[in-house]
Amino acid sequence: MSAEQNSAVGEQPSAKRKKAAKGSTVKPVKAAAKAKAKSATKTAAKAATAAKPTAKPTAKPAAKPESHLAMVRRARRINRELAEVYPYAHPELDFRNPFELLVATVLSAQTTDLRVNQTTPAVFAKYPTPEDMAAAVPEELEEAIRPTGFFRAKAKSLIGLSTALRDRFDGEVPGRLEDLVSLPGVGRKTANVVLGNAFGVPGLTVDTHFGRLVRRWKWTEQEDPEKVEAEIAAIFPKTEWTMLSHRVIFHGRRICHSRKPACGACPIAHLCPSYGEGETDPEKARKLLKYEMGGYPGQRLSPPADYPGKPAPARIE
Ligand code: SF4
Repeated sequence: MSAEQNSAVGEQPSAKRKKAAKGSTVKPVKAAAKAKAKSATKTAAKAATAAKPTAKPTAKPAAKPESHLAMVRRARRINRELAEVYPYAHPELDFRNPFELLVATVLSAQTTDLRVNQTTPAVFAKYPTPEDMAAAVPEELEEAIRPTGFFRAKAKSLIGLSTALRDRFDGEVPGRLEDLVSLPGVGRKTANVVLGNAFGVPGLTVDTHFGRLVRRWKWTEQEDPEKVEAEIAAIFPKTEWTMLSHRVIFHGRRICHSRKPACGACPIAHLCPSYGEGETDPEKARKLLKYEMGGYPGQRLSPPADYPGKPAPARIE
């Protein structure tokens, strides 16, 4: 499912960008929202046409080490530019309430969000509340979540956390980090996903994509997710944490892949000290953008209303 995002990516001249930003502040709220949705749709449509990236990478190996201040400025600029590339960045798990998001996030370990989204409708229909899931027959729950892999361990976690929610939290998902991480099978990453997206509490999601990209961008050298989280948290204001996580993960899934980053089709190549780690030839790089093949630009079966693409297929292929 990979429509090519590179088109969304040309760097705007700063004067033009400033003018656009200035104009948006005087728009009525409704008009601004409409314009945002329109721009998201336009961005995705552009992405599908696989236009050539216009920004030339200029971030060559620095002659002298980058100062911390310069790194922070560059990091914030990357975040701003990613916001332009992925105005519709969002969590890619389908959920209708905190419990569903918690379950979906546990299921998402070692598999794709699409696979989880294709599996959870039947799971949520059968076990809509923590009480229902706590009372599940383990073998039946295992069968229901089997497509997501590691189904025995995941079923054990789900029954354990549901039992804890029933017995210690009156059947409600708590909205505090310390409570969430006290649930079986729930670590900081899962807790931050739930806090950021179901409770509106800012959180950084340090998953495999996030960790890889922030190291490529030299925002941190840490490998340990908790240390990565702490260092990135110090670079950005809290209000940015949740959306920054979505943008970075979107970029990691769509362009800055683990094995073959598509540097030649990357909109932020000019800000990246790791430019050249992947394919730099624009034509070859564009061919690596396979994420949204088939015209499905995201993983959600029920995407947000302003999402520019069509929903992902419900069928497991
Ligand atoms: S490593 Fe390549 S694909 Fe990744 S952000 Fe840098 S230039 Fe872009």
